[in-house]
Amino acid sequence: MQVETVVVPVAGDASFLMNCYLLSDETEPGHLLVVDPGDQAQAILAAIGERQVEGIILTHGHFDHIGAVQRVVEATGAEVMAHTDEVRFREELAALGNGSPGNQSFGRQRPMPAVQRLLTDGDLVAVGQLSLEVVHTPGHSPGSICLYDRLSGQLISGDTLFFGSMGRTDFPGGSMASMRNSLARLAQLPDDVSVYPGHDRPTSIRQEKQSGYLCG
Ligand SMILES: [Zn+2]
Ligand SMILES: [Zn+2]
Repeated sequence: MQVETVVVPVAGDASFLMNCYLLSDETEPGHLLVVDPGDQAQAILAAIGERQVEGIILTHGHFDHIGAVQRVVEATGAEVMAHTDEVRFREELAALGNGSPGNQSFGRQRPMPAVQRLLTDGDLVAVGQLSLEVVHTPGHSPGSICLYDRLSGQLISGDTLFFGSMGRTDFPGGSMASMRNSLARLAQLPDDVSVYPGHDRPTSIRQEKQSGYLCG
């Protein structure tokens, strides 16, 4: 799997960066999956260029991961995919209204984009010969997912696992108990798996076992 990182300043804030990933298979370089178009649609579309976007996958629904979804959909016509628990949870939050503590504690809330394909644990998302496995890793949010390419040993980890850190669990829908289970699952992956988080630099399963965030 070819992983390209588009580093995106969220809401133009150069101190708040997130990673949008463009994923492709070496045998079909003209076809892409876009993970977490968080903001700055123009920069993301420029990075996509003439290539065909086969799908947009959201690791979760926080505002810093979804800000450019609408514009990337309009420009590419690609379908949006997210875990079913994330979609359901965000619908519940939205039903509570903006005045609810749950919504306010996100600080800057954005409505969840329309999702055409609901994902569950173990689902496969394919582009070319690339087949990405959906790993449900709740904890940071109820429907947080990681995307695992077994063949190349690469994991897109969203806001679950970072370089020397793990995702916060104090947002609405967060759970430390779930996060522990999710990290224990990731610890089962081979040590040499490369990890591409939603923020900051890449890491590996081995590195995070040494950091103490993965017990295994
Ligand atoms: Zn998040
Ligand atoms: Zn984030």
